[in-house]
Amino acid sequence: MSMEVLRSPIMVREALFPQIMRGRSVGLVPTMGALHDGHMAIVRDSVMENDLTVASIFVNPTQFGPGEDMDKYPRDVDGDITRLREAGVDILFMPSAADMYGEGFSTFIDVGPIAARLCGAFRPTHFRGVATVVAKLLNIVTPERAYFGQKDYQQFLILETMARELDMPVDMVICPTIREGDGLAMSSRNAYLSEKERSVAPVLYRALSSAAEALKGAEASPAKAKAMMEDMLRAEPLADEVQYIGCYDPHTLQWLEEFSGSALLAGAIKIGPTRLIDNVLVWK
Ligand code: AMP
Repeated sequence: MSMEVLRSPIMVREALFPQIMRGRSVGLVPTMGALHDGHMAIVRDSVMENDLTVASIFVNPTQFGPGEDMDKYPRDVDGDITRLREAGVDILFMPSAADMYGEGFSTFIDVGPIAARLCGAFRPTHFRGVATVVAKLLNIVTPERAYFGQKDYQQFLILETMARELDMPVDMVICPTIREGDGLAMSSRNAYLSEKERSVAPVLYRALSSAAEALKGAEASPAKAKAMMEDMLRAEPLADEVQYIGCYDPHTLQWLEEFSGSALLAGAIKIGPTRLIDNVLVWK
């Protein structure tokens, strides 16, 4: 079956219904487009593990705050279609904002305290927008599995919690972060970086991975790991704004006092106007 590009929720349902009735499994990969190898690795997992894969491209207005980059978010629809077709995707769902949010839309998922931490402290309405749009996508596509990247670990935790607590019949799958050769996590927003900014951007992953190594040592504590990451970032003048950096409980996202089992090392920094996030999970 060659890839169909569909714009309305009803068309997606009509295309999938007979397939699902025949017992075929569906994997969903939600994206905002401008696809890179990180997205494509997730797509490949879904294509391998399901009879049918639906990818979505939707730059979701409800997850952008005032003054954020919604209008200039990178777009490459033709390139995305080619990549998804070559990867064996069956349906590309590419709705407009009007297709997803009718006049007077007013229902939102309230995601609770984990949405207020880390990125949520700087983007207060972001995760309610993400959770709401992903709930809609799950209802439209009714996949057996939905795929997300570890790069957005907090997003995954929130969506997995939502699916579990709201009894959504879907397996939420997390896929490893795909990086450039120098460690920078791939992101559509990396396209905003100037050459100079791009050359310093790997500092975030360097800080997180050095602290992860240190944390495994006998002497290290979360407080020392945090100080170490702050020092590494401070040494890089272009990384002029550190929104947060530290060691967190991977389930609650609360600040970790002591490293006893597992830790999430996560940070968000701005390099010039571009906001970068990354994280590393560590086990003892
Ligand atoms: P986005 O288009 O940025 O909304 O991302 C769509 C999906 O791809 C999300 O589940 C992201 O976590 C995931 N993703 C983005 N970048 C990467 C990456 N470098 N490695 C793995 N997954 C990623």
